[in-house]
Amino acid sequence: MTEFKNPESCLIIGAGPAGYTAAIYAARAALQPILLAGPQPGGQLMITNEVENYPGFPEGIMGPEMMELFRKQAERFGTRILYETVTEVDFSDPKAHKITTDGGRTLWAQTVIVCTGASAKWLGLESEQRLNGRGVSACAVCDGFFFRGQEVAIVGGGDTACEEAHYLSKLCTRVHMLVRSDKFRASKIMEQRVRNTPNIVIHTNTETLEVLGQEAVEGVRILHKDRGEERILPVTGFFVAIGHKPNTDFLKPWLRLDENGYVFTRPDSTATDVPGVFVAGDAQDKVYRQAVTAAGTGCMAALEAERYLAALGH
Ligand code: NDP
Repeated sequence: MTEFKNPESCLIIGAGPAGYTAAIYAARAALQPILLAGPQPGGQLMITNEVENYPGFPEGIMGPEMMELFRKQAERFGTRILYETVTEVDFSDPKAHKITTDGGRTLWAQTVIVCTGASAKWLGLESEQRLNGRGVSACAVCDGFFFRGQEVAIVGGGDTACEEAHYLSKLCTRVHMLVRSDKFRASKIMEQRVRNTPNIVIHTNTETLEVLGQEAVEGVRILHKDRGEERILPVTGFFVAIGHKPNTDFLKPWLRLDENGYVFTRPDSTATDVPGVFVAGDAQDKVYRQAVTAAGTGCMAALEAERYLAALGH
């Protein structure tokens, strides 16, 4: 039996800066987009404290508040938002891409804009997994409050680790930053900020061997690699801030991904090898990964989807 397909013009997967921006543009172009919000509507900015670098907010803005504004703007122009997560896609029919959700829904669309972003990476230690949610966290802004007045550690030397260490330093008695090499990856201004904070202790050339504790974090065993010296830090909170992995596993059968899972798009474009499928934001950007660049590529994807549909006589 032939499946009944009544394809939507434009389906957007993901509700971060890229997804909402694509929705604003697609809705204003009368494409009547449907946006599937996924497991974390608002994306990574929902677990961010203050955003100071998004143009137009000279005093800064809280991440969740900013995403609420994005959502309202997308809805104002008629975007229909479904709070479901895409579990599977089938891009075998270029006229009607098939999308299945965890709500048991099947949708077809002429154009699909993938804006699924990225998720936090973990070290891969057994103890880290076992104590996840019991003192181990990948989000200082979400969980830092539970450790006020306590001593904590954070792994990573990028901007995220610096930002989160600084945030934790205001709540905790002492913050140990565990940086695996002898240098930070963070921007100079962020590095200076942590270096100038008296209760942040920086450990370079340091590897995390084990998070200690059975029911809750009771310490962390680290190795100072240059001295070959093992040490236990008496922390009750252990934060991981070592970067992110793009949420693209479900696209593997259909789109070309690089070895880290980022989707390949054509140069200066969000188009993929599949006609009518576009990718924007952190799912395809391993270089810039900013809210503003994600929004920029979301805009590009919607414009490209509009042009693609126009060429089909939409
Ligand atoms: P990054 O990839 O920039 O940094 C990851 C850090 O984690 C590096 O120090 C890296 O070490 C370390 N690391 C990676 N894997 C491991 C591991 N297995 N064990 C120990 N350490 C590890 O990620 P971020 O999340 O910090 O930043 C992502 C992007 O977002 C960047 O472009 C950043 O500039 C931006 N950003 C900007 C902010 C702002 O402007 N306010 C705030 C937060 C992020 P190594 O260097 O040795 O690889």
